[in-house]
Amino acid sequence: MIITVASGKGGAGKTTVTASIAHVLPKDKTYLLDADVDTPNLALALGLEKPEKKEEWWGGVVSEFVGNEPHPEACPFGAIGLDGTVNELLCEGCGACAKRFPESYRLKNVHTADILWYSWNGVPLLTAELMPGRSGSGKIVTELRMRAEKEMAEKGRDVLLIDAAAGRGCPVIASLRGSDYAIIVVDNTPTGIEDALQVLNVVEHFSIPFGYVINRADIVPERVEKIEEIFGKRRGGEKLGEIPYIQDVLKTYPPPFERVLEYINVEEILKKI
Ligand code: SF4
Repeated sequence: MIITVASGKGGAGKTTVTASIAHVLPKDKTYLLDADVDTPNLALALGLEKPEKKEEWWGGVVSEFVGNEPHPEACPFGAIGLDGTVNELLCEGCGACAKRFPESYRLKNVHTADILWYSWNGVPLLTAELMPGRSGSGKIVTELRMRAEKEMAEKGRDVLLIDAAAGRGCPVIASLRGSDYAIIVVDNTPTGIEDALQVLNVVEHFSIPFGYVINRADIVPERVEKIEEIFGKRRGGEKLGEIPYIQDVLKTYPPPFERVLEYINVEEILKKI
């Protein structure tokens, strides 16, 4: 059972909701995956400071200048300078230069991310930290998914809870693809609703059943009805909760999960597993 928690925008409360749900899932069956590899903080939200294990991941590629003849015109991203050298921060690793001028350019693997293993009350938590300036976060999430599913099979765990990145880009698609259920956290703001609708389009593209949680519902109660109308009645999602603006959540970290869980329909989520 793969449950992915997503939101259209950052700061919607996705990680807090994920960490709260982690508290009610069976600890001997669950595996946690923080797929927000640009800014992973599920471990922090669960009060974990140091990973148990760390591994360099060299899965990404960039081009390097290996010849004598510079070809800055070969790069559509402007990553090649007049002297022929490649700016690794601008290189997308597309390989176009190496294909066109193999005597001058070739692709090399680079340290793209650190893969991190944590343990929370006996529950494994896997994540990665993208190195500054590196691209390929979708590829890293796919790698994490493969590793998590392999370890789950080895350890007899069958509930994977994924904290997806914000937005609807490659890492979000890599998180949602193959999920059995999605939980969309909708921030009760005009941009929060609009961005959550964008992620809902991805969820529907993959035909994933979904539920939604409205965060900061009490700030503008009139908008709650609009969210219910769109996400529930029109798009067929089940409402899993309405979380008010809780000041305690902002004052302490890790947040007081028992307070957040008061507002989430935990029984409905447990029925899925
Ligand atoms: S691999 Fe692609 S992005 Fe990188 S320098 Fe070559 S053409 Fe540019």
